[in-house]
Amino acid sequence: MFDSWFKKIFGDIGIDLGTANTIIYVTNRGYVVNEPSYIAYEGNHRVRAVGNEAKQMAGKVHAGIRVVRPLADGVISDFQAGDDMIRTLIRNVGLPRFLINHAVIGVPSGITPVEQKAVLDSALAAGARRAFLVKEPLAAAIGLGLDPFGSQAHMIVDIGGGTTDIAVISYGGLVVDNTLRIAGDEMNEALTAYFKNHIKLHVGEQTIEQIKIEHGIVGNHGSNKQFSVSGLDHVTRLPRQVTVSCDIFNYALKDILRSIVQGIRKALDELPPELASDLIDHGIVLTGGGALLKGLDRYLSEQTGLPVTFPDNALFCVAEGTRRILEDLKKYRPLLYT
Ligand code: ADP
Ligand code: MG
Repeated sequence: MFDSWFKKIFGDIGIDLGTANTIIYVTNRGYVVNEPSYIAYEGNHRVRAVGNEAKQMAGKVHAGIRVVRPLADGVISDFQAGDDMIRTLIRNVGLPRFLINHAVIGVPSGITPVEQKAVLDSALAAGARRAFLVKEPLAAAIGLGLDPFGSQAHMIVDIGGGTTDIAVISYGGLVVDNTLRIAGDEMNEALTAYFKNHIKLHVGEQTIEQIKIEHGIVGNHGSNKQFSVSGLDHVTRLPRQVTVSCDIFNYALKDILRSIVQGIRKALDELPPELASDLIDHGIVLTGGGALLKGLDRYLSEQTGLPVTFPDNALFCVAEGTRRILEDLKKYRPLLYT
């Protein structure tokens, strides 16, 4: 009786604190935030905007405004900005601070104990009565409906904005937990460099992101379709449009693809043989926005010899995991940090 009354009035929040995007779930309301992990300051300390609004300011603002991505590399590069961003995003879900009960936050698995404490402190300062952290690969597994406590090993490869996490889960723990600082952001950098060096064209950040999403394709089954890109000519400094083939993605992203494959092979190498054989049957589960790059799943499967799947909720699985954890804190308690 008290329990159901309590649950109706108080809310729990689950947060996927990504390097590129933050998703927040609130009990009884569902997913209420899905925004870029950006914060913008005016002057030194005044928070001007977070999320979408802050991202839109990046690259377009005068010297008085500073736009920060506090978690861009999977570590908290700026503690004050991280704290301000988390607190502002939680405030923006519209749940009065005295009504927040539990908070479960999925964090990049590479963050240090000092950074973990900082995230917990931000959640508590935002009003949560109790706050817990969960490593993102574990939250992802739960959100994907896999049993993190079972003996069956699962490999999850999450390609996000700043990091690629390669994890193998078995018996409630991470048997392998490797973070590569190479993911979607580096793909953009490599594409920018390709246009600059090979086509002598300076292409803006947002255009690069857009062509990656619209035309990006990798692997041997790529297409010979063409597309147009506009930018500034490197020599004349005048606007110029060029038409290029989709093959450029294989060239431009070659090193990144190779690093991801090497990271997966290294993880497979570290595994005890019994667990490795589990993966032959169940393969790799691919998650994260970077994994949306067309052809990537097939390419990784060819390069590793394992089946690769990209589930429907691959972008929401961490947030979904925090939701399921909040529903049964007792069961998942051994996987959480406080
Ligand atoms: P994080 O969990 O680190 O916040 P996300 O899982 O939200 O990251 O993924 C963000 C990354 O996914 C960005 O680098 C973005 O460019 C990339 N991305 C999103 N959609 C696509 C797509 N269709 N093709 C390739 N990359 C994509
Ligand atoms: Mg993520």
